[in-house]
Amino acid sequence: MQEYDSPMFRMACQQFDRVADYLALPQEVRGRMKQPKRTLIVSVPVRMDDGRVVVFPGYRVQHHLSLGPTKGGLRYHPDVTLGEVAALAMWMSWKCALAGLPYGGAKGGIACDPRKMSLRELERLTRRFTQEVIPLIGGHVDVMAPDVGTNEQTMAWILDTCAMREGEARPEIVTGKPISLGGSLGRREATGRGVAFLANRAMDTLGIDAAKATAVVQGFGNVGSHAALVLARHGTKIIGVGVQDGAVYNPNGLDLAALDSHLRANNHDIANFPGGEPITNEQLLELKCDVLAPCALERAITEKNAARLKCRVLAEGANGPTTPEADKIIEERGDIFVVPDILCNCGGVVVSYFEWVQNLQSFSWTEAEVNDKLYRILEQAFAAVMHRAKREKLSHRLAALAVGVQRVADAKLQRGLFP
Ligand code: NAD
Repeated sequence: MQEYDSPMFRMACQQFDRVADYLALPQEVRGRMKQPKRTLIVSVPVRMDDGRVVVFPGYRVQHHLSLGPTKGGLRYHPDVTLGEVAALAMWMSWKCALAGLPYGGAKGGIACDPRKMSLRELERLTRRFTQEVIPLIGGHVDVMAPDVGTNEQTMAWILDTCAMREGEARPEIVTGKPISLGGSLGRREATGRGVAFLANRAMDTLGIDAAKATAVVQGFGNVGSHAALVLARHGTKIIGVGVQDGAVYNPNGLDLAALDSHLRANNHDIANFPGGEPITNEQLLELKCDVLAPCALERAITEKNAARLKCRVLAEGANGPTTPEADKIIEERGDIFVVPDILCNCGGVVVSYFEWVQNLQSFSWTEAEVNDKLYRILEQAFAAVMHRAKREKLSHRLAALAVGVQRVADAKLQRGLFP
């Protein structure tokens, strides 16, 4: 569909076409699976602190409704477009199905630069966006969560805005909210924890000792920082970390706590971190290491750098970090164990699902219960992908997509076409 046309949406469609051909999906179901079910485009007027009114474009895309409510993050970033949000919503569908969750995929976004906005401006933006999309969201309709540029505070404002309108607070309206408002223990760490768990499973498979391994992490936000911390806890040396404005390298291992404090205190200025040597993000991705975890934005690994990667495991914490052209190069090389995004970062939506279930039951689980249930689902999904890849001689990405896409196709075919 022309409305969604963008490099990201084309990339998601290219992946879908490949897997649909492989699965020989009937034509009648392909169109229904490729095009988002519903999209809402809204204009979000916000009074800035200096008195100006700025109108931000906002989007919410629900990819399919065949398995339950839709679920997906909300992104604040200057490059957000409808096509990007639609691609991310489609990937959420395959991810939820791969993990066996009763959701369709969704995603939302506002084209804005949260780093240049005050807390009050962000609050006004979030509350007004929520008001505009209220007809399309709800605990049994579409449940939002944090993504790039948003966090627990953003979710708290959404919850509160809905509560003001409904006259009662319904915590299941969002996940990834503060614990004090019904958030789940372990949700904040879940995506990064899952990335580290699956990177460790990949290292086990290859016979690499995690305690002697090295890792490079691109992105030090919610996903990247927790992935790095958990990998380090298992003895893996984190030799490189990158953020939006640069990267650092230390062959003896970076002090992650010191890096975190430095970034917070110095407005994310990584180049002046005293515990490492400044390098560019391009150099970061090409460092020799056991695990490379791109945990920032999409399309970081392209046909330009894929041949130069020197990792043994590519653990995709971000959504869509590898372009189809780069994928082809990596497949041909055959020396990199890819943990594809819809598997690698599914820990976030799995614990979001646990948060939603706890909210619906007005009951809370301990962090140990959450993590135990999370690891069981991750292990099942990892085993399903490895089994399919081995049995049918597929790349890990194609195997993961085949499992997820097949489950959605089965649901659509079994429900039939209305009326
Ligand atoms: P975040 O906003 O918390 O952090 C993003 C990080 O990426 C920051 O450190 C930022 O400096 C860095 N970054 C931004 N642009 C960069 C660039 N051009 N080069 C290098 N680094 C750059 O976001 P997040 O929630 O950690 O999400 C990161 C990725 O993980 C996204 O692709 C997101 O869709 C995906 N993801 C997030 C979750 C979640 O639970 N938050 C779940 C699944 C997938």
